[in-house]
Amino acid sequence: MSMIFSGRVVVVTGAAAGIGRATALAFAAQGLKVVVADMNVAHGEETVEHIKALGGTAVFVSCNVALESDVKRLMEQTLSTYGRLDYAFNNAGIEMEHGRLADGTEDEFDAIMGVNVKGVWLCMKYQLPLMLSQGGGAIVNTASVAGLGAAPKMSIYCASKHAVIGLTKSAAIEYAKKKIRVNAVCPGVIDTDMFRRAYEADPKKAEFAARIHPVGRVGTVEEVASAVLYLCSDGAAFTTGHALTIDGGALAI
Ligand code: NAD
Repeated sequence: MSMIFSGRVVVVTGAAAGIGRATALAFAAQGLKVVVADMNVAHGEETVEHIKALGGTAVFVSCNVALESDVKRLMEQTLSTYGRLDYAFNNAGIEMEHGRLADGTEDEFDAIMGVNVKGVWLCMKYQLPLMLSQGGGAIVNTASVAGLGAAPKMSIYCASKHAVIGLTKSAAIEYAKKKIRVNAVCPGVIDTDMFRRAYEADPKKAEFAARIHPVGRVGTVEEVASAVLYLCSDGAAFTTGHALTIDGGALAI
């Protein structure tokens, strides 16, 4: 598989923790210059320190992906710092309180859609023109297995991740002839702070989370990161508009 990344530039959102941090580290290990974007300044700067300690190159940009002005500034800073943008991993996302559809609130709906859907849309809106002007690029958006099927008691989150796949597929077709590939990753339950917040209070729920994956465990952040790197690599040159599950077989049942 061709993984020639050296000297290229990637933006990773939600890179202060979990899947985003692991993917930022994995890109840096392949020689990319990494723009670490997140709302959490302290942990975002920590990701940059980790990368530098391993001999990599990275810069932190504080960014709330739900705000157009922040996303525009993120891409401007990427250009002014590293001069180009080759890849983007639009990964920042938030979960929801578990509850039935009728128990959700308007504020919760707006918050989840604002980050998970508008955030991904805004990122692509400002990344695509940069990639177009350079003659190509690759984008990976974080959806979820909840973007491909039902997620009882997480209906708003589920709808937001379906929307991420809709944005991904539409952008992939619109820019296919411009050498810009757009794909999504659809993780099952992955061991991150988000997972721990949702399941660790109740050990029975954590056991259930492991059991829904036929491999018998939850996934690791590194397992998602390697899928993202593959989708960005030239080895995936014929793959666009795809929603790749990283779910230990959960959706194969
Ligand atoms: P996490 O909570 O560990 O990390 C998410 C990061 O995103 C945090 O650093 C947070 O500060 C940042 N963030 C949140 N809102 C933001 C905003 N508005 N602007 C910028 N940054 C923001 O979560 P994670 O588990 O690593 O999740 C990453 C992505 O993967 C999310 O989109 C999530 O929906 C998705 N996902 C997670 C799982 C899982 O089981 N962990 C499964 C499927 C999909």
